[in-house]
Order: sequence, then structure tokens, then C-alpha cells
Amino acid sequence: MQDCIFCKIANGEMGELIYENERAAAFADLNPQAKTHILVVPKDHYANIVDGVPSEVLADMVEAVEHVTQEAGIRESGFRVIMNTGDDAGQMVHHLHMHVLGGEPLGEGLITR
Ligand code: 5GP
Ligand code: ZN
Repeated sequence: MQDCIFCKIANGEMGELIYENERAAAFADLNPQAKTHILVVPKDHYANIVDGVPSEVLADMVEAVEHVTQEAGIRESGFRVIMNTGDDAGQMVHHLHMHVLGGEPLGEGLITR
């Protein structure tokens, strides 16, 4: 989608990728909320998790989570995956993304910020 920042990052037109597979890409969050804060996004544009995302896209996103958490050394220590969806969740970027947070204890609450 034109003028979508995450479309541009995911397709290598700007910024730096940590990892990519066929349908998903991962990069560091600009404003990290934990020691490790990685965003995993589909290469194609979907507004959010209820925007008709094909299962193979979700599978590639999960594969990317597996890969980047292993690489970042947080697979065993634990991490949190968050998908803000819509206004009440405070979704600011309307290109589907998983926040992958870890590298330190995150607290027991579901909300991190
Ligand atoms: P949301 O509130 O939509 O779930 O989260 C959007 C996230 O994207 C925020 O954590 C914000 O820091 C991050 N972000 C926004 N613009 C950029 C950008 O241009 N580059 C990167 N790497 N992260 C961004
Ligand atoms: Zn997009």
C-alpha cells in the first residue's frame, strides 16, 4: 500500500531488516518498550489481525517470531507477543504487526504501556 511505512520497511525500501522469510519480515521497533522489542509484519498489507489474513501469512509471521526470539536469545527466557488492534488498543500503525517483547521481566500484567 502506498504511503504505508511498514510496507516500505517490510519490502526493503527503507530501514533495516533483522530477518525475512517469504511472507514476513522483522525489524527493531523505533521506540523500544523493553530491552528486546522487535516487530514482525507481513510483507503484504493487512490493516490488522481481523483483516482476512491468510493462514500461510500467519504461519510465516510465527516462523519469524521463532527465528528472531532464538537469535535474540529470548526464546528460553520468555517473551510477549502483542497485536494492538484498533483504537481502544492504541494501534498507531495500520499495517498488521506483532510486537515481540522480552530480554527482561515484563511484569505479570497484560498491558505494557
Ligand atoms: P502500535 O501502537 O501501532 O501497535 O505500534 C506501532 C509501533 O511501531 C510503535 O511501537 C512504534 O514505536 C513503531 N514504529 C512507528 N514508526 C516506526 C518506524 O518508522 N520504524 C520502526 N522501526 N518502528 C516504528
Ligand atoms: Zn502496509
